[in-house]
Amino acid sequence: SAPRFRALLDLCKRRGFLFPSAEIHGGLRGAYDYGPLGAELKRNIANEWWSYSVYQRSDVVGLDTSIITPHNVLKASGHVDEFTDALVDCLLSKERFRPDKAPKLTVVETPKDGDLDLKIPIMAPDKTIAKQWVTTIAEQLVPGAVVSRHKSDIFLHAERVVEPVEGSNAEGKIFLKRTDPNMQPITISYNGYVAPGSNSPFLTASRPFDLMFKTFLDPIDPIDRVIQTTLSHPPSSTTTVRSAVDTVLRPSMVYLRPETAQGVFINYHNVLRTMKSRPPFGIAQMGKSFRNEIRLEHAIFRTPEFEQLELEYFVPPWESSYWFGYWRQERFAWWLRYANDPARFRTRDHTSDELAHYAQGCMDIEYEFPWGWGEVEGVAHRGDYDLKQHARATGERLDFVDESPGVSESVPAGAIALETVPKMEDGWPVRYVPHVVESSCGLNRSMLAYLFDAFDEVPEETGSRIVMRLHPRLAPVKCAVIPLIPRPELMELVGLVAGSLRRERVNTVVEAQNLKIGKRYYRHDEIGTPWCVTVDFESVKDGKVTIRERDSGEQMRVRWEEVREIIRDRLNT
Ligand code: ATP
Repeated sequence: SAPRFRALLDLCKRRGFLFPSAEIHGGLRGAYDYGPLGAELKRNIANEWWSYSVYQRSDVVGLDTSIITPHNVLKASGHVDEFTDALVDCLLSKERFRPDKAPKLTVVETPKDGDLDLKIPIMAPDKTIAKQWVTTIAEQLVPGAVVSRHKSDIFLHAERVVEPVEGSNAEGKIFLKRTDPNMQPITISYNGYVAPGSNSPFLTASRPFDLMFKTFLDPIDPIDRVIQTTLSHPPSSTTTVRSAVDTVLRPSMVYLRPETAQGVFINYHNVLRTMKSRPPFGIAQMGKSFRNEIRLEHAIFRTPEFEQLELEYFVPPWESSYWFGYWRQERFAWWLRYANDPARFRTRDHTSDELAHYAQGCMDIEYEFPWGWGEVEGVAHRGDYDLKQHARATGERLDFVDESPGVSESVPAGAIALETVPKMEDGWPVRYVPHVVESSCGLNRSMLAYLFDAFDEVPEETGSRIVMRLHPRLAPVKCAVIPLIPRPELMELVGLVAGSLRRERVNTVVEAQNLKIGKRYYRHDEIGTPWCVTVDFESVKDGKVTIRERDSGEQMRVRWEEVREIIRDRLNT
């Protein structure tokens, strides 16, 4: 799996899909910049989602809400109290177990009878720190041990510090060899979690860790405020320091939203009023979310700053099971539309102990990445939890007054048990808080999944070459217009073809480098360009050009004026 991942990351960097952020300043772990091709690919996925969710439906509208979110909103939603992960302290490095700060310890081999042979990969911000950690861990395991030296009963050495796998990490390894058969077995934790019954020397019990990024809406630097307060009223204990700091900072504290959904819930009544919406209806939103993830992993799979494509679909309570089923199918089908290998996509229902406290049901859509199955989207039946929470916290009525309740027109006959639907004799109108079915898709993870899905290494006589079999609507460049050789007499027609495509808003490049035509085709195969249009010397005489198709390699000769229509039709099928 690692070579495939490395090859893809290498391609992404070499061809301008993805760059480690701030690389010339040493990089920042977990931060990535999207290059010219990555920005297009990401935008194309987002546009496909928006078009499918909003433009192709009559019952969904879009919204774009603030990233900066007041404390009250996230207190009401439950995030302030519940949105935490388990954090463990690493006793060895005396550091908190954070990927940017502390070693990541992993069991590679558990001790069996005989030799103890442990390998401990360490992810550190840079090689120097990785080396320091290797030494620290080695010394803590065997007090007084010096890396790469013999100790009385344990042979211990630190292996090379290997090159970064991703971002600006370095990875170190320690091998411990037990020579004393009486030595107690040691179990190292996996990602900070100790398997039950093990006796790891590393880790403290877990405690909650706030996943949200706090910031301050304050013209005065919050640090200055804290300094002023503590200088004027010196606190006497940790508890009083905390409460003094809280008092000073709380009024200006805001959060970067950890999901886009809450912006939708607090605008539910605005949309209802202005759009005259009536359940079932949906609100779609795409945008950035932020999570102070303890573990950052697999390039853009898990980063602190990411983008979500979320749809909150509000339904009458008696229709909620039907709509949950509906969106599960719809969303999975959406993913498969762009897939080359559908077998690498699957759905997985949450078991009852996995369900978030607010959810009545949840299904993940997963992709089989080289390191295993990973969630790319969640579809959840959130009941009336969110609207009720915000209604309770604000005193606003977030219910819907239904003058003519019944089964919605868009629900097929027989899909809902009639005894659950309110009847005339129950009293008119009916007031209810709609239930919500949510689909929450990660845009960056979608991009990574579709990049892996498209990544094809085609064997050649000498080695192999990469063809990115991206769906044409996702491909960053749709069409490359290529003069057979870059001579002025061909360039006029090249310009006409490219211009006709650009007027159709088809992202087109002119590939006039002084390279063999085959090389230029391959360069475009490598970034997933579905069509190349070649202009040769015949073209100047008869006005005909050649369209080459990426996947089949098929070539067709057409009049240059037809190119735009052919490509447009193919993009729309
Ligand atoms: P995970 O279990 O992987 O942490 P999650 O269940 O917390 O994900 P959700 O809260 O359901 O994720 O968010 C919906 C989607 O947002 C996920 O399916 C994923 O695609 C994306 N997502 C969540 N966290 C991140 C992140 N840190 N980096 C990139 N994408 C993310």
